[in-house]
Order: sequence, then structure tokens, then C-alpha cells
Amino acid sequence: DWTAHVIKQAEIDKYLVDGKDFIDEEKIFEEIEKGKKPDKQRVRDILQKSLEIKILTPDETATLLNVEDPELFHEMQEAALEVKKRVYDNRIVFFAPLYLSNLCVNSCKYCGFRAENKEEIRHVLSMDEVREETAAVIDEGHKRMIAVYGEHPMNGADYIAESISTIYSVKRETPTGNGFNNIRRVNVNAAPMEIADLKKLWRAGIGTFQVFQETYHRERYAELHPANTVKGNYRWRLYAMHRAMEAGIDDVAIGALFGLYDWKFEVMGLLHHALDLERQFGIGPHTVSFPRMQPAPGSFLSENSPYLVSNDAMRRVVAVLRLAIPYSGLIVTAREEPNLKRDLLTHFGCTQTDASSKLGIGAYAKKLKQEENIEKVQFMLGDQRSLDEVIRELANDGMITSFCTAGYRCGRTGDKIMTLLEKGVEGKFCKLNAVLTFREYLNDYASPATREIGEKLIEQELREIEATPFFSKNKLLPTFRSYYDRIARGERDLYM
Ligand code: SF4
Repeated sequence: DWTAHVIKQAEIDKYLVDGKDFIDEEKIFEEIEKGKKPDKQRVRDILQKSLEIKILTPDETATLLNVEDPELFHEMQEAALEVKKRVYDNRIVFFAPLYLSNLCVNSCKYCGFRAENKEEIRHVLSMDEVREETAAVIDEGHKRMIAVYGEHPMNGADYIAESISTIYSVKRETPTGNGFNNIRRVNVNAAPMEIADLKKLWRAGIGTFQVFQETYHRERYAELHPANTVKGNYRWRLYAMHRAMEAGIDDVAIGALFGLYDWKFEVMGLLHHALDLERQFGIGPHTVSFPRMQPAPGSFLSENSPYLVSNDAMRRVVAVLRLAIPYSGLIVTAREEPNLKRDLLTHFGCTQTDASSKLGIGAYAKKLKQEENIEKVQFMLGDQRSLDEVIRELANDGMITSFCTAGYRCGRTGDKIMTLLEKGVEGKFCKLNAVLTFREYLNDYASPATREIGEKLIEQELREIEATPFFSKNKLLPTFRSYYDRIARGERDLYM
């Protein structure tokens, strides 16, 4: 019985307060109700608090969720952008998803990988295949990866730990032959685990551990996740990040699948999750995700859910999350169409995205298009453009691509990075590392058109760095200049 084998009740109970978890549905509905028809001045006061980079309370967040007046929403959007600028400046972090297995013991009604979908062709990548896939991802220009696994005994913690080490071991020579490129940060999206297993991932060098709650609404959760599966246990999933923190993984990522239940409720669920992590561990989530349900082969729910989220609502989701949890990264993925994705990145406060993504198992090395691998994907992508195209588009909008992975390698993770982000210090290091990694990208992978736009952007960034007192005051400039020159000459992976 896999369910009984996996779930350790004691590793749920220890985080409960008086036997209750942190999602109090009645209270959330009350908070949303109370926030209706918000007073303008109250909204402006809340925006001011956000601009001081402070996490909002549930009441404040519910008030922002209820803003309908277009002018007031415009003020919210501007404040959200300003918060992003203060914490993350004009950087966008890129990553590539790598699906290692589509075997799954669960049967989530919205997912193409669910066990009862007999049309799905199942495969778990061998370590040789992991190496091939990783090489293909590096050759696109990526440095950060999120490795994605279904829930199955064949891809448990030992398999995940081995594949993390395998991904880190792959090195590709740079075009000049002076150095090599590699994946420098492997984040993991996998099933909730017990603390002993999470420690194995920590020892293997995991970056961020990501588990999405899918929906925070219990009844809806029970409808979509059969009770006789591991995933049917709502609380085992709800406390996945608490266990990760306890195992030493202090960069954790939360998310909900938007379209399963009312979007305002899900935003409140994400906020309560962040607040409980802060309360119990002093550290909020490293990133927050809000993927929107997309058509999945073999899934009946994607078109029939009564809760599908419009583009307009997605903009509200991002603006409110940016303001409510100001220090967390916000991820919009290639599930979304290019125009909306661009809008959320440049005008609404998202900080991370993916590009040239392939969701089929083994699809990178074979260069398979989505249509050629349809029986092996979890959902369909809205944006199939190459990394180079997306980087060029954002550079045109004045956004610099960052492949920075310095934070966790310099010990700037968890509570340390949160404090540094709140004070605006980490952002300064990120700026230097963004320029160093963008220099690498322009030299090694950029098309002529991207290089042309990228060079102008990097010149502007260099001027800003030289003129920022923080860098000269902290004597960072000589090291930065020397790293920049060494990278331009062909060395790789120098970071601050
Ligand atoms: Fe399995 Fe995840 Fe799909 Fe559910 S959503 S069936 S757990 S792969």
C-alpha cells in the first residue's frame, strides 16, 4: 500500500495548532467578504505599506483583491511595479523545466499523467538520458533548471537525488573553448516527502523545492484528488514545505493551479501559506507560482471547470501577490500565451519565467515539437518560442535576463536572503550577477539580433553600476570589473 507507506502522520501533526491547519476556510471567506467595496484611502495606505516591502495581512490582501475601480487598480499596478523595481529591479530570471518521468500513482482529474489515463506512454529517464537532456538544455543557453517528477516508487527520493547529481555533472565546452557551461542550480518539483527523504535531496544539492497545493479549498481538493491516492491527503501536501524547511531546504516554492477553484480564495490560500511558513520558520516562500489550467490530453476538466481564470483576473492575481508578499519571486511560465506572459513580466511584477521549454519526456535531446510528443506531455504550452527570442523581446522592453545562481552557492538563502531582499541588498548583488551571466549568454548563445539589443542594454547596466554608490562604498567594483573582463575573454561561472 503505497499511500500508507508514504504518509507519516506525525510529520503532519507536529505543525498543527490545536489540531487545526492554517487554512481556515470560513475565515478566508469572511476576509474576502469584509474587503468588498474598499475605501480608496484604505487601499492607498495598504499600497504604502507594500512599498515599505512588508508582507500584508489577510485583511489587507483581501481588500486589494476587491479593488474594481479601474483608476484605483491602475494605482495598484503602479505600486506593484515599484515594489518589483525596489526588490528585483529590471531583472528576469530564466529557467528550463525538465520532465524526468511521467509515471504517477495519483489520479488528479485535470492531469494527463494521471494513473488511470491509459493512453499516456510512460517513461522514466535513465541517467544516460538525463545526461543527454541536460546537454541539450545547456546548449540552449540555460543555467537553471527545474526538474519535474511524477509520484511513483520508481522515481522516489533516491532517483531524484541521483538525477540532481547527474544534471550537475554535465559540462559543455563554450564556443571559445576557454571554459564550460553547465546547469548551476537544480530546483525540484516533486511529490511531498517525509523529512528523511528531503534530507537526501538537500545533500544532493537541491536549489528550491517546489510543491503546488493545486487548490487550497478542501472540498474541491477532495473532488479532484481521489481519497485512495497519496495526493488525496490534503494535509500531507499542505505541510510539504514545512517538512522541507525542517530538512534544511530553506528555499521553498509554493503555488496553486488557477482554474480549479475561485481565484480570490486561492490567492488568500497562498498568503496564509506564506504567513504560516514565516510564523513557524521565520522564512517565507522563495517563489510563488500561479499556473493556469491549460488543456491536457486525456483530461476532461481543462475546458469544463466553472472556475477558469480570465486574462484580466490573472493580471489582478499577479498585482496582488506582488504587493502582498513583496520579497518572493513570482513565476509565470510558458503555459501562457506570449502577450500575456510579456505583460505580466514587464507591467505586473513577475520575476521569473521559462523559454524553449519542452514538456515531453526526452523531448529536448530529440528536439521534438509539442505536436510530435503529445502523448507524453502533462499540459500544452501557450508559448513555444526559443530562449533567444524571449530574451530579445524582454531586452527590447529594457529587462535584463539573469541566469544568476550565486545566492545559494554563497549561502544567501532562506532567512538570510529574505532579510537581504527586504533591505534591498541582495538585489544589488543580483544586479552584478545578472550582468555577468548576461555577458556569458551574449558571448556564447545569442543570435546576432539578440546580441545587438543585448549589448546596448548591458552598456546601460554597466553605467548604472558604476554610478551606484552602494558598489563603490562596499568596494565591489574592482572585483566586478575584473570578473566582467575575464568572462568577456572566455572564462565562465564567476559570481559575486
Ligand atoms: Fe500525478 Fe501530479 Fe499529474 Fe496528479 S498532477 S496525476 S500527482 S503528475
